[in-house]
Amino acid sequence: MPELPEVETVARDLRGLIVGATITGAAGDWPRAIASHPTVEAFATDVAGRRVEAVGRRAKLVVVELSGGAALTIHLKMTGQLFVVPAATPGDRHVHVALALDDGRELRFRDIRKFGRIGLWPRDPATGAVLDGEGGTDLFAATGPEPLDDAFTLRAFRARLRGRRQRLKPLLLDQGFVAGVGNIYADEALWRSRLHPLRRAASLRRPDEARLYRDLRAILAEAVERRGSSIDDYTAPDGDGSMQERLEVYQRTGEPCPRCGRPIRRIVLGARATHFCSWCQRLPAADRASGAAAILRAVRAPATKGRRWTELAAEGSLGLTRDEAERAAARARAERTRRAAATRRADARAGADARAGAGESD
Ligand SMILES: [Zn+2]
Repeated sequence: MPELPEVETVARDLRGLIVGATITGAAGDWPRAIASHPTVEAFATDVAGRRVEAVGRRAKLVVVELSGGAALTIHLKMTGQLFVVPAATPGDRHVHVALALDDGRELRFRDIRKFGRIGLWPRDPATGAVLDGEGGTDLFAATGPEPLDDAFTLRAFRARLRGRRQRLKPLLLDQGFVAGVGNIYADEALWRSRLHPLRRAASLRRPDEARLYRDLRAILAEAVERRGSSIDDYTAPDGDGSMQERLEVYQRTGEPCPRCGRPIRRIVLGARATHFCSWCQRLPAADRASGAAAILRAVRAPATKGRRWTELAAEGSLGLTRDEAERAAARARAERTRRAAATRRADARAGADARAGAGESD
């Protein structure tokens, strides 16, 4: 699911493509994709004639500011993608909403799983806030601060942590605590900070808080630079990201931890997979009580099938000397980079093929 860096990339690409264009209409085959209107037709009537003034992002939503005091929000959810193409370009059956632009192009919302949502909302004339209806309340009233904003200082982060009792992983995923962080960057930030995902926020010492603050922002900023992680269905209007090559634990169950060489573990927490190194990310005894031990007992050895596992022989890295573990990790990283490049090349070819045969492809 696209997180802050991916959605930021989509918003930046869109900004270059559609600011200044006027929307002339909308069509679609999936009314539930429209969060703000009962039918695609009602949405189309309301959106037609509005000019795109700016494109930004709030949390995991693309926010398109329109003339006439309105805003379009686009939540990509699991598999949503946005493309801007000439209207004559053949579509496929996963394009569920298309906004026609006055210059002969279309903004297309493609969504295989159909969890994504588009909404057209009024903006507060005084503050510019996106409202959930005419005279309504701020759509983002319950959304936490943007972690890359200058206003999000270490001091502000500490203030928000105070009184929080949750464990760190669910806390970071809580959009009311901080906006835009999802499964990928929560796992990566906790690994960088050497903090266990089951650790209680209340047990953090000041240096732990400072590390988590710094690492969370660093990884999000790096991911924005690299146009996000092209995992699963994520792509942006101007192409894929490359942050997936820099991920150290996310979806790397069984591979050696790049720091210590021990296998990356996976637990399921609130129905979300969580990846971590139980050696580098120690759980204090106090946090082990009250449920954590049961969650950790449920950790199973990773499946022995699958290329990643057999190739890298992760369990074999247990008991390596520090140097051996470092060399194993370096080899694993080189292999990942090589494989990611091969995947990108294959994807580019597949994308070219799909475009060539668009209309018939799935
Ligand atoms: Zn480790």
